[in-house]
Amino acid sequence: MTDDGNSVACSECGAAHDIGKIEVAYGLLDDYFMLSREQREARGRANSDFCQLDNRFFVRSVIPVPLPEPDRYYCWGVWVELPRENCRIAYDTWEDEDVSRIPRLKGKLANGLREYENSKGLLGELELRPDSHPFFYIVEESRLMHDLHSGITAEDAVRYYHQIA
Ligand SMILES: [Zn+2]
Repeated sequence: MTDDGNSVACSECGAAHDIGKIEVAYGLLDDYFMLSREQREARGRANSDFCQLDNRFFVRSVIPVPLPEPDRYYCWGVWVELPRENCRIAYDTWEDEDVSRIPRLKGKLANGLREYENSKGLLGELELRPDSHPFFYIVEESRLMHDLHSGITAEDAVRYYHQIA
């Protein structure tokens, strides 16, 4: 159960977890992560927000799964593959403070989330944000899409965390 809306008493380890600190984030997209250092250098380049691998383009994003409390989310830190022209739009407007008129950009999930089988490649829409990484909304039928609509509990979030920690 949440007490102050930020922390949850964990039924698995007994600690009080801050939801914001147990979110799972992928540092690299899967197809890049699996390469050797030499292959990465030969075929791609990456910084903390953008990645190019061969002729494919990726941007760091978050999938905001709603929690029961209003305006609170459990965010998966993921990479999203975009067509070149969409990645260019994201790049050119990355620092803009007003991105509300930019339509959502079609892309697909470039990480397979451990909690969601077959989630790599799911289609979605990227929403640029002025104050954070873009949000990515899955639009392809899947359990992840349903969780994005219906939300999860804090206990679910803790369980995701303990699968890898
Ligand atoms: Zn725990």
